[in-house]
Amino acid sequence: MKVGFIGLGAMGLPMAKRVLGGGHDLFTMFHHNRAPADELASLGARVMACAAEVASESDAVITILPADAEVREVVLGPAGLVEGFTSGKVLIEMTTATPRMIQDIERMLAEKGVGLLDAPVSGGTTAAAAGSLTIMVGGDPALLNEMRPLLETMGKTILHVGPVGLGKVVKLVNQTLAAIHLLAIGEVFALGIRSGADPRTLYEVVRASSGYSKMMDLRLPGFLLEGAFQPGFRLELMKKDLNLALDSAQMLGIPLLFGSLAAQVFTAASRAGRGAEDFAAAADFLSRLAGAELRSPAVGQA
Ligand code: NDP
Repeated sequence: MKVGFIGLGAMGLPMAKRVLGGGHDLFTMFHHNRAPADELASLGARVMACAAEVASESDAVITILPADAEVREVVLGPAGLVEGFTSGKVLIEMTTATPRMIQDIERMLAEKGVGLLDAPVSGGTTAAAAGSLTIMVGGDPALLNEMRPLLETMGKTILHVGPVGLGKVVKLVNQTLAAIHLLAIGEVFALGIRSGADPRTLYEVVRASSGYSKMMDLRLPGFLLEGAFQPGFRLELMKKDLNLALDSAQMLGIPLLFGSLAAQVFTAASRAGRGAEDFAAAADFLSRLAGAELRSPAVGQA
């Protein structure tokens, strides 16, 4: 298949390599940073001048961009995808963004007979490189079946979750839960540590008890217990996701109490200069408010 790919960041570049590795013809473009497009060109991709050219060369175009504004620009902006799309082509939009934005785009693309799958991902950069992402797909199930072999070059678990918009909703639910679980670990481990408990012992016990969450396995070893905050998933991106969830809650007129608090902690951690670190740094920021570090005293000892 002729596949367009736009958004060659931490996620997009390894995903685009998987698509190429799956035997598809790849058409891409660069925004500011040219290096990832050059790397793909060295593997056989063609680099086009603008999104409209990518759309006119491709049967299906994949986008994975920072958030709403960038998706709107790439799809609807000057020389955007919509200018190169013709009836029967497909957009697979994988950004973590708002349902409202993707539903607006669905309406505009439908006027041209262009299909749309709303397909955000989870699993991070490691799963992106391994082709083992979870992909949550909103859209026409028949179109999903048609595109499944292409999605399978990037993901292992591909789930249909409802119409366009629901992919973004399910992703934002996951992100908000992940952020709340992380901050709960930072705050409550600090209580144990300030009372004299060893963080590794706390982890071992809670792991086998009712206070456990998977976030402990994901962000205690390798991050909080070692005091290491190389991303991973940047704190700034999680802050963005929480604010998208708040935006959706506001649109519905519903409260998101813990989510709002989580967004405030992420904003404060970002203001404290930690935005470029892994999002685990938000839990470290919180535990330090209590005068505790989750880094295990055993680190660095023989
Ligand atoms: P990055 O910031 O690493 O990459 C964003 C990419 O988008 C860059 O290549 C950037 O190009 C490009 N871009 C930005 N604006 C435009 C534009 N107007 N036209 C064309 N290209 C543009 O983000 P990630 O790859 O980390 O994340 C992408 C999405 O995936 C986000 O929504 C994120 O929340 C989500 N996500 C991220 C995960 C992660 O672990 N990182 C995990 C799961 C989901 P340039 O640098 O040249 O500006």
